[in-house]
Amino acid sequence: MSKKFVYLFSEGNGSMKELLGGKGANLAEMTKLGLPVPQGFTISTEACTQYYDDGKVINDSIQAEIMEYITKMEEITGKKFGDLENPLLVSVRSGARASMPGMMDTILNLGLNENVVEVLAKKSGNPRWAYDCYRRFIQMYSDVVMEVGKKFFEELIDKMKEEKGITQDVDLTADDLKELARQFKAEYKAKIGTEFPSDPKDQLMGAIKAVFRSWDNPRANYYRMQNEIPYSWGTAVNVQAMAFGNMGDTSGTGVAFTRDPATGEKKLMGEFLMNAQGEDVVAGVRTPQPIAQLAQVMPDAYNEFVKICGILENHYKDMQDMEFTIEDTKLYMLQTRNGKRTAAAALKIACDLIDEGMKTEEDAILMMDPKQLDALLHPQFDAKALKAAKPIGSALPASPGAACGKVVFTAEDAVEYGKKGEKVVLVRLETSPEDIEGMHYAQGILTVRGGMTSHAAVVARGMGTCCVSGCGEIKMDEANKKFTLAGKTYVEGDYISLDGTTGNIYGEAIPTVPASIGGDFDRIMQISDKFRTLQVRTNADTPKDAEQAAKFGAEGIGLCRTEHMFFDPERIAAIREMICSDTVADREAALDKLLPMQQSDFEKLYEALKGHPVTIRFLDPPLHEFVPTEEADIAALAKTQGKSIEDIKAIIASLHEFNPMMGHRGCRLTVTYPEIAKMQTRAVIRAAINVQKAHADWKLVPEIMIPLVGEVKELKFVKDIVVKVADEEIAAAGSNLKYEVGTMIEIPRACLTADEIAKEAEFFCFGTNDLTQMTFGFSRDDAGKFLTAYYENKIYENDPFARLDQNGVGKLMEMSVKLGKQVRPEMHCGICGEHGGDPSSVEFCHKIGLTYVSCSPFRVPIARLAAAQASIKFPK
Ligand code: PEP
Ligand code: MG
Repeated sequence: MSKKFVYLFSEGNGSMKELLGGKGANLAEMTKLGLPVPQGFTISTEACTQYYDDGKVINDSIQAEIMEYITKMEEITGKKFGDLENPLLVSVRSGARASMPGMMDTILNLGLNENVVEVLAKKSGNPRWAYDCYRRFIQMYSDVVMEVGKKFFEELIDKMKEEKGITQDVDLTADDLKELARQFKAEYKAKIGTEFPSDPKDQLMGAIKAVFRSWDNPRANYYRMQNEIPYSWGTAVNVQAMAFGNMGDTSGTGVAFTRDPATGEKKLMGEFLMNAQGEDVVAGVRTPQPIAQLAQVMPDAYNEFVKICGILENHYKDMQDMEFTIEDTKLYMLQTRNGKRTAAAALKIACDLIDEGMKTEEDAILMMDPKQLDALLHPQFDAKALKAAKPIGSALPASPGAACGKVVFTAEDAVEYGKKGEKVVLVRLETSPEDIEGMHYAQGILTVRGGMTSHAAVVARGMGTCCVSGCGEIKMDEANKKFTLAGKTYVEGDYISLDGTTGNIYGEAIPTVPASIGGDFDRIMQISDKFRTLQVRTNADTPKDAEQAAKFGAEGIGLCRTEHMFFDPERIAAIREMICSDTVADREAALDKLLPMQQSDFEKLYEALKGHPVTIRFLDPPLHEFVPTEEADIAALAKTQGKSIEDIKAIIASLHEFNPMMGHRGCRLTVTYPEIAKMQTRAVIRAAINVQKAHADWKLVPEIMIPLVGEVKELKFVKDIVVKVADEEIAAAGSNLKYEVGTMIEIPRACLTADEIAKEAEFFCFGTNDLTQMTFGFSRDDAGKFLTAYYENKIYENDPFARLDQNGVGKLMEMSVKLGKQVRPEMHCGICGEHGGDPSSVEFCHKIGLTYVSCSPFRVPIARLAAAQASIKFPK
């Protein structure tokens, strides 16, 4: 039997979303519930995929099947397509598996032509309505199917209203509308070059094709990327008998929610318009009335609608977003779906549904979108002001939240403005560790270069500061403190605004509202903790970040990047001294200066995490990141080192590498300069011993993590150094402190030889930033430049630095866990790359049996919720 591509509403049900799309499945479900739904059929998402496979054509057999279903519809409705007695008119609407509000198009009143409209006008005795339908159809078809553009038709309506001296569409007479339909068709011919199609079958196939095509329009592509909806899903098409809201004063149309989508409050919310159709309610042509007023205008229809709202909420056990039409006093339901809601409303609705006995705690957890929590944890734009603003560009949404402030171009300026209490947005080609202080003062950070794991992105996420990175369209003139974007030049002090959640950049001030979290948030977090089996740690380098993460529920530190502690002016001097030293003794002397500072930092981290595990990662970046670039700093260093400026410059030049990311960094630094690891080991062990002494009830087991290991012998080399120093320190202190030495797994060779590495490593932690970089062979700082072309060509659908590539990088991870545990079954395995805070990646980590995920402080709540969802969906 050949594959079935078309389903009557009465053949489907609510569980068939994959095949029928959300709208189609819900129309079928409402039909099953016996609700008043104009009948019709759904062309499946598989037909859409087939359309693309066939080179963007609807093949003959699918066309024939569609026409077969038109015949079935004719039997059900008793009307006939294109008939001059009793014509059938239909709507054609898209409906993907996940709801994509407003992304794709709708065509109403299909089936009309010159003859059919006359029949309709005569038979109904309502020519105004008939011609209103016709002109709307021509308008929608021209716009959606032939892409003529709405505005040409709107101009004609405006002209007509002006000539007639009226302001409202409803005041146009039947003759006016007839004349408009004529003008619209002429407009169509002028723009397209052919007559407007009069055969309903041609109209239908054109409309269906347009819906399939709209799956690939820029709006839909953008929405899909933002919401991680795979391109391969395709959209279904719903063909439904028309119910007419524009038949006069006993007809109307409206939309409503069963709860307030902004606050979650349990009350019917919505709007309606009498004598209107389709988009009129949202298009702003006339001002709609609040739904409660329908009780006065049409009490019977209103009461029935309220009853249906109750039925639907109870049935779907979630807040519903519905569309309805009243045709000559009779109510019809055109759509229902789980309504989109704000983060605050999502929390309230989930909690209320538990209390109302509608949902179990597990189901309430599953209905949340973890990423939405971002909106509660960071400042957001004032919604009205944002609506009125137009972006001047967009780039990577590197760290969520909203920021508005004066443009500054250097970290020093950010500090200066910031100290005066001014809000600033720091705009840089890229940031470096030296910019940390300025980044702290900035409301937002915008960079020209860099991806989702660039310095700016990682640090901003850690701080909870909004960041948009990698905006290659910016023409930057750092020397003259100005940049140009979208044809306009911005100088220091100009206002801009950034949306770190969407990546949008605005050339104006948009007011922000502060983050707010309330009781529902805590409750959902507590419920999440009951279910999750994955632990959630944080990536934190400063006591402040660690404390913030602990407040958000972090159960330890999974990654402390020790190099981030080196950029304080006092410390950078000691590091530079170390780098410029000629002998081991000189290097050790410089490192000795750093030892007490590192030790005190570590003590504070242990204190902040109150006895939870803390993983300290040893120095990772190439040394050139620490040397000065400014002449004055070079001269100062020459002076303290007792060397000539030329000598210092020669040392700096000697550190240059063509591929620093694959260069002298990570554990390779310890192989060449063991004294660095020795100093860091002393600092870790001394800090732990001190803090343990102060808190007898804590059981500190420091975790020392060696980065960038690719060979067990190099790990053993470094570990031997660490163990020797650690044991010396412990013995000298007369302590019985236990500690662990583990490794980051971030080089493919480490994955391939994980069984060998596990002989030395006491734990694994996946550094998926580097692992992604090295598995794909993309530079994590530069990939943004070409990835856009990959998205456009559907080669990749997501940034692999933001969402874990489960097929490739994930396979390496799974293999590593298996190989590692064969050798050391009790070992703990975690992840500390940026993926540790991404919900779909968290789910994957749960599935492959990791012990914990570690993410920046502000993503800890997201990871807690995502981990709970993973446990509920995939119990162990
Ligand atoms: C990683 O590579 O995933 C990681 C966490 O380390 P970093 O980002 O510091 O290289
Ligand atoms: Mg790394």
